[in-house]
Amino acid sequence: MSTIDKLLTEEHFITSRDDDGYEEGYLGDAIRFKMKRDNKRFWAGDNISDYLHEGDKEKLIAEAAEAFETVLDRLLIDRENDPNSRGTARRLAKMYFNEIMAGRYEPAPDATAFPNNSEDRYEGMLVVRSELRSMCSHHHQPVAGVAYIGIIAANKLIGLSKYTRIAQWCARRGTLQEELCNDIAREIMRATESENVGVYIQATHGCCENRGIMAHSSLTQTTVLKGSFATDSGTKKEFMDNIKLQQDFAPR
Ligand SMILES: [Zn+2]
Repeated sequence: MSTIDKLLTEEHFITSRDDDGYEEGYLGDAIRFKMKRDNKRFWAGDNISDYLHEGDKEKLIAEAAEAFETVLDRLLIDRENDPNSRGTARRLAKMYFNEIMAGRYEPAPDATAFPNNSEDRYEGMLVVRSELRSMCSHHHQPVAGVAYIGIIAANKLIGLSKYTRIAQWCARRGTLQEELCNDIAREIMRATESENVGVYIQATHGCCENRGIMAHSSLTQTTVLKGSFATDSGTKKEFMDNIKLQQDFAPR
């Protein structure tokens, strides 16, 4: 156990929380302590909104801004005199919390479900195209692409825009495309209570384009198939045919 972890006793943080000033430690450390205590996983792609209270995000942004100042100093960037680097630490902190990693800190989008259990219920396939922006966990480089979400409606229907809201909530974290595909399928199944879901993502990765192999126009495709999408070849074909139709309609 590291020294910092030894210092992170619960008592210590309850005291500092009560002062309202967190002068004794960082709020980020207190939250990390609680998640470790609860065996709550807090990987880059995990949502930790259950551990945040009202107003916490502002404090966490201030703490991250301070840490980004240190990163810029270590990179030997003159953040005092370079007008473009002044304020960059805080801009980075805000961007991480409010934009590129917002899906870690915000609770799941509200997806009100409507009953689909009347006599003339919809029993066909629904395919929704969702544009995504994400970020790779390895290099924090942008991932840009499109998810096609296919579903055979169960007893509940959610609004069409909710599919994209859920997909974007999953995407706005640090992620691997393979994991993102699984995350979207799981959350769509949870929101709709359908067991028959397919998710296909095609995306370009900044970590392949901007560094490393510098491969432009390299596309990565991932597919997750659940229920009849996996077991019934007709359903799988219909899904893939629908994706082709979507791509004809709106080339990425
Ligand atoms: Zn990467």
